[in-house]
Amino acid sequence: MDFTIPERTQIICEMMDEFVKKELFPLDSIGLGSTDWAATEKELGKKREMVKKMELWAPNHPKEFGGMGLKLMEHAYVSEVLGQSSLGHYVFGCQAPDAGNIEILHQYGTDEQKEKYLKPLVEGKIRSCFSMTEVDMPGSNPTMLETTAVKDGDDYVINGHKWYSSSADGAKFAIVMAVTNPENSRYLQASMILVPSDTEGFNLVRNIPVMGHAGAGYFSHGEILYQNVRVPQKNILGGEGQGFVMAQDRLGPGRIHHCMRWLGICNRAFDMMCKRAVGRTIAPGKKLADKEVIQSWIAECAADIHAARLMVIHAGWKIDQVGASAARKEISMIKYVVANTLQKVLDTAIQLHGGLGMSSDTVLCGFWAHERGARIYDGADEVHKVSVAKQILKAYRME
Ligand SMILES: Cc1cc2nc3c(=O)[nH]c(=O)nc-3n(C[C@H](O)[C@H](O)[C@H](O)COP(=O)(O)OP(=O)(O)OC[C@H]3O[C@@H](n4cnc5c(N)ncnc54)[C@H](O)[C@@H]3O)c2cc1C
Repeated sequence: MDFTIPERTQIICEMMDEFVKKELFPLDSIGLGSTDWAATEKELGKKREMVKKMELWAPNHPKEFGGMGLKLMEHAYVSEVLGQSSLGHYVFGCQAPDAGNIEILHQYGTDEQKEKYLKPLVEGKIRSCFSMTEVDMPGSNPTMLETTAVKDGDDYVINGHKWYSSSADGAKFAIVMAVTNPENSRYLQASMILVPSDTEGFNLVRNIPVMGHAGAGYFSHGEILYQNVRVPQKNILGGEGQGFVMAQDRLGPGRIHHCMRWLGICNRAFDMMCKRAVGRTIAPGKKLADKEVIQSWIAECAADIHAARLMVIHAGWKIDQVGASAARKEISMIKYVVANTLQKVLDTAIQLHGGLGMSSDTVLCGFWAHERGARIYDGADEVHKVSVAKQILKAYRME
């Protein structure tokens, strides 16, 4: 396996790195602490224009719709660079949940759906959300959905209670996961349906306060009541009952990019740790960096980040070699390894910064509050561990 980053990717990453550090680091607090989305969007809109002029917009999205069309591993390195700032992915037009929705629309959308939803989404003119998790049902077992989409004339009528539909506030449409075929086997009951947010019965109840902060606009997580929401049957994505298959497609390779984004955060926190350690005087003539316990933290975090990064690169390499399905075990392993590495590195960085680490004067506690969810969303750690163990033990059981 060759670890050299191709020259073109290297150049793109260097340009992005310079931009992120110069233009976005000073703005981090407006993303992590955003309450006035209109003002934040305006400010970030200017940065987005700069990115478009540099021709670095939508790095992972299809070329025919105005993206750069980077391949899986090219975008992995990009994602690591952009992850250093809470605003990186948004400003470069490759933010979740739109990125996953774009993949679905690109792969499964009809020409009409692509024109109406995909095109303006890639261009950054609109936003979207992905509405699968429900208030009363376990998100860890998405075959237990209560939301239904029942055929009535030419339409579907959707009823259900969702939450954690990230970025629903201001989104132009949602991709809603709803049961259309209750008669089918468990994994073939649900479908993905496009629901414009101005449809009657689409009720955004609130932005859920996460770690005490409800956020706004893109930086929020919505609770949505779908009450007799009527949309044409042509709004279905892919075929009826194909929702889970498509959700797997959406989540699988995308995890490489999520994990690399988390590693970008780790790199930033690690860099802050090292700078603080050499700069902070702890006793006359002694810096924090002179203490063995601090050196041990730094050595451990460096090794953890490195190991996690190698696992992600290997998983990406395996997807390229044999496809996402055959790399399921590796994809699950990186999910919990990197999420825990992220948590450990952020926690250590906060500890090393002392009171400063707990304040919002650095980006650390904002990252902590926003990224604690990494161990829960896209499949909780435990679910991935069960899946990995089952795959490993299967071979032993057959023996
Ligand atoms: C910040 C954030 C953003 C999110 N964004 C979105 C979004 O955009 N769209 C969307 O649809 N959803 C989103 N989610 C929801 C997320 O996907 C779910 O929270 C997740 O799937 C877990 O489901 P749950 O919350 O219902 O937890 P539950 O299913 O009730 O599980 C609770 C806990 O039980 C444990 N557990 C679960 N199953 C097992 C098992 N088999 N064995 C052992 N332990 C187990 C895990 O520790 C888990 O955390 C988001 C969540 C967060 C926190």
